Amino acid sequence: MAVRPDSTYAFTAAPDKPQHSRHRDVVVLGGGIAASFLAALLAQQGVDVLVIDHGTHPKFAVGESMVPYLTACWNGLAHRYGIPDLSPARLFDDLAARVGVKENFGFVYHRRGKPSIPAEMRQHTNPARREMHLFRQDVDAYLAYGAIRHGAEFRFNTNVSSVDPRPDGVSITLDRGETLHCQYVVDGTGFRSLLADRFGLRDAVPRLETQSATCFTHMIDVEPFDAIHPDGWHGMAGRFAHGTLHHLFREGWLWVIPFNNTEASRNPVVSVGLQLNLRRQKLTAAPGPADVVDLVNALPDVAKQFAHAKVIRPWVSARRLQYSSSSSVGCRYCLLPHAYGFVDPLYSRGLCCTFDGIKALAPVLLAALRTGDFSEEPFQSFDALNAKLLSHHDLLVHGSYLSFQDAALWTHWYQFWNLSTVAGERPLVRAATTGLRTGDFSDFERCDHKGAMAAYDEHMRSACQVMEAAEAGTLPMTVAVETVAALSQDSWSRFRESGVSLETPA
Ligand SMILES: Cc1cc2nc3c(=O)[nH]c(=O)nc-3n(C[C@H](O)[C@H](O)[C@H](O)COP(=O)(O)OP(=O)(O)OC[C@H]3O[C@@H](n4cnc5c(N)ncnc54)[C@H](O)[C@@H]3O)c2cc1C
Repeated sequence: MAVRPDSTYAFTAAPDKPQHSRHRDVVVLGGGIAASFLAALLAQQGVDVLVIDHGTHPKFAVGESMVPYLTACWNGLAHRYGIPDLSPARLFDDLAARVGVKENFGFVYHRRGKPSIPAEMRQHTNPARREMHLFRQDVDAYLAYGAIRHGAEFRFNTNVSSVDPRPDGVSITLDRGETLHCQYVVDGTGFRSLLADRFGLRDAVPRLETQSATCFTHMIDVEPFDAIHPDGWHGMAGRFAHGTLHHLFREGWLWVIPFNNTEASRNPVVSVGLQLNLRRQKLTAAPGPADVVDLVNALPDVAKQFAHAKVIRPWVSARRLQYSSSSSVGCRYCLLPHAYGFVDPLYSRGLCCTFDGIKALAPVLLAALRTGDFSEEPFQSFDALNAKLLSHHDLLVHGSYLSFQDAALWTHWYQFWNLSTVAGERPLVRAATTGLRTGDFSDFERCDHKGAMAAYDEHMRSACQVMEAAEAGTLPMTVAVETVAALSQDSWSRFRESGVSLETPA
């Protein structure tokens, strides 16, 4: 039989090496995008790694819209650690019939009962690059199979009943009674994090300003937004259907992420998700399909886009989407970013945090495996990065929800996000390009998605206070708009004076 006795699903167990007595280097809990990519990376570096997932592929997951930071970070890691077959470009080629293209980030502001106004639309394009809409069930499976190819072992349909890290090693007991042993355990189980639960790490009340609810699903027969009026009506450079579209309105926003927007695609699916601002709209329960239908019907241009849409899978909803943890590291364990915390899908930064986290974790974990020092101390930089990225994303998103009360306010707050895409993104994109060309990834390893944005934290916080005052009616909206405009313009001026290049590397 051609199946290796130690392959993930051996037809028969290796007689001379019972699997339960083997001490592995690393066990990764959860077999999603992060766990599989990390497992491939570690296995390629010679680490004995086992991934345990309670389900099996293919499975539904969200986190579908990429941004240039993610592409560059993921690509840099794939090349830095010798797994180029798992780079985004290879995935785009191999899954061309299943994934969509993202050429722009589109934002359209709406008022109830009124048509949208082209002057209030924004399109953020990056002509030098092309991102994907990740059809996650296929992408996650592709990465898991790639990890197996690189030597990682997987156990699917396997439930963990306890995880016990001790100073001399970690014991993991499966619900079938089997106990596994390893040097270090990484938690990639996301929102329902096993280790956050095991160690009581979850904050009872998330330490995040953003308060939003969500309801999302997959649909077919969603019209391209560009097609709802005569050709050229919106005057934007690109087609909204070629990107991730955000319909913004006073109470929140709705994402539209098509997988059917390339010639190569044979996938008719469009991802759709509603977010409602709980600070503006009190909800006693998670929003449901009726809330989405009400909202869509209240916004005439959105109603046109969804006139023939059909839902093809169960809705998923949550009353409050945010969660956070007191720490992402402990002796012999860590939580990957999505197990540690999450803010909101706005600006598609979740996977950036995830890959930034893997970028920070990999060298520290590989060093620990060499030295045997699995104490918390060397992993503190990973923990600090997770905390920093979560709070930065929170500030960007909280300010955005505040700004949605008025189209002009949003236009000026948008300039902070715009700045973050330059100050946070360009240095990493540049460093990844250098790494690929020269093999020197030292700058790449130093970059993170907050980048130089710390210099503007104070202005962003002041802008939030101003918008809160406008919302409370203690400051006229005209004054709030002028103040937020001045703060964002001043941030941009200071950034330009700082001499950071705005050029996008080829
Ligand atoms: C509504 C929403 C929209 C989002 N949109 C975007 C976006 O557009 N762009 C973006 O970049 N990010 C987005 N994100 C964030 C993105 O989903 C995450 O960054 C990403 O999925 C993290 O990957 P992961 O592998 O760490 O976790 P997950 O994708 O959550 O995978 C967790 C894995 O763990 C397994 N698992 C769970 N519990 C157990 C258990 N007890 N035992 C064993 N296995 C277990 C699951 O089966 C799964 O395979 C979004 C998040 C949400 C909630």
